Amino acid sequence: MCIRELPVTLEGAEHNKYASNMLQVINVQSQSSVYEKALEPLRETAKILDLHESIVKVLSEPEKTLIVSLPIRMDDGQIEVFTGYRVRHNTARGPAKGGIRYHPNVCLDEVKALAYWMTLKNGVVGLAYGGGKGGITCDPKKMSKAELERLTRSYASAIARFIGPNLDVPASDVGTDSQMMGWFMDEYIKIVGQSLPSIITAKPLSIGGSKGRETATGRGTFFVTVEAAKAFSMPLKGASVSIQGYGKVARPVAQYLYDVGCKIVAVSDSTGGAYNAKGMHPLKLVEHKKSTGSVKGFPGSIEIGVVDPITVDCDVLIPAALENQITEKNAHEVKSKLLIEEANGPTTPEADKILRKKGVIVIPDILANAGGVTVSYFEWVQNRMGYYWTEEEVDEKLKTVMVKAFTDTYETCKEHEVDMRTGAYTLSISRLVDAMKALGRI
Ligand code: GLU
Repeated sequence: MCIRELPVTLEGAEHNKYASNMLQVINVQSQSSVYEKALEPLRETAKILDLHESIVKVLSEPEKTLIVSLPIRMDDGQIEVFTGYRVRHNTARGPAKGGIRYHPNVCLDEVKALAYWMTLKNGVVGLAYGGGKGGITCDPKKMSKAELERLTRSYASAIARFIGPNLDVPASDVGTDSQMMGWFMDEYIKIVGQSLPSIITAKPLSIGGSKGRETATGRGTFFVTVEAAKAFSMPLKGASVSIQGYGKVARPVAQYLYDVGCKIVAVSDSTGGAYNAKGMHPLKLVEHKKSTGSVKGFPGSIEIGVVDPITVDCDVLIPAALENQITEKNAHEVKSKLLIEEANGPTTPEADKILRKKGVIVIPDILANAGGVTVSYFEWVQNRMGYYWTEEEVDEKLKTVMVKAFTDTYETCKEHEVDMRTGAYTLSISRLVDAMKALGRI
């Protein structure tokens, strides 16, 4: 966990202004490990599935972890040293799959948690994948395009022997985009001397990306929200929606929900937020953010704080930023009936208990945001067969996968009389345990 890493990371933070938020972040994270929190729901699932303690132990540790040092020449001629990670949590169901995060918070503890959640996520939607994750501790907002290219190429060559199309397949995540996937692929191709687009997903269309990948996470969240609204008898037409985060995964879901008659009453980004009980137009919010750099100050709105969307009056709450945003401190103030986790790990286990008591229906991250990795899987499949689907075909296939994942989770909940998070964990872990038993690993 971060506490053990502290000396290394602090050293990096002191010397590296491009990762300057790190000190503050470490202070928060060293109090409690993201990974330890991430493992908590596993205990409940282990009881339901009557798993032996040794199996819980196996699932609690990643298969392999790689830490790399990335010295980069910055535009001012100085060399800065960044730290990069790649964690393979589990490969029993197939190659490890999961994105690469560029953010000042990135540390081994966080990447381990994110890799573990990828194993569970891929299991819920039934993809032939295990789980992995990577990241670099850096602040991409403070770096030039040329610096980001050098950093990405350096990371790709540093982890090239650790990954592979049949072993571990990265993609984008917070702070990374399709251009970076292109640089990464180019570097990998140079090393292996072969055209292998299936080494990475969420690439630009021109080099083997899939139609529909850019909006896939939001599209998947939308399909799951529609299913949840039906299952829990909450009409979406006229429902008020509050979204924490207004980045690449939140913007599409805001648009799809708006299109079916929802009112987007609150949004925020890393600099502030906007609230209007009458609703705001998702596209106009995007334009406002493009021209001013933030959603705050949107015409007709009241200015709110970065985390305020969590506690405003609304029917549907969508945390779409980072982990541990809904805690025991603000969970009591959540007013929504339905909470759709589009971010990875936005709710702490303590907050989850409070929400359950309050009767808030939580659709967990490993189900709600699985649309991104599902279309990544489609991209990988298309790369391997060298034949590409239309946007309509991708959308139809995504809908089928997401609706089935929701139904499977809902059925598991009913069978064991548990909430949706426990249901999703139970479903995914039972699939994983079956695979590990079939391989003779447990
Ligand atoms: N970063 C996304 C996630 O957390 C997508 C991962 C992928 O496409 O491999 O699910």
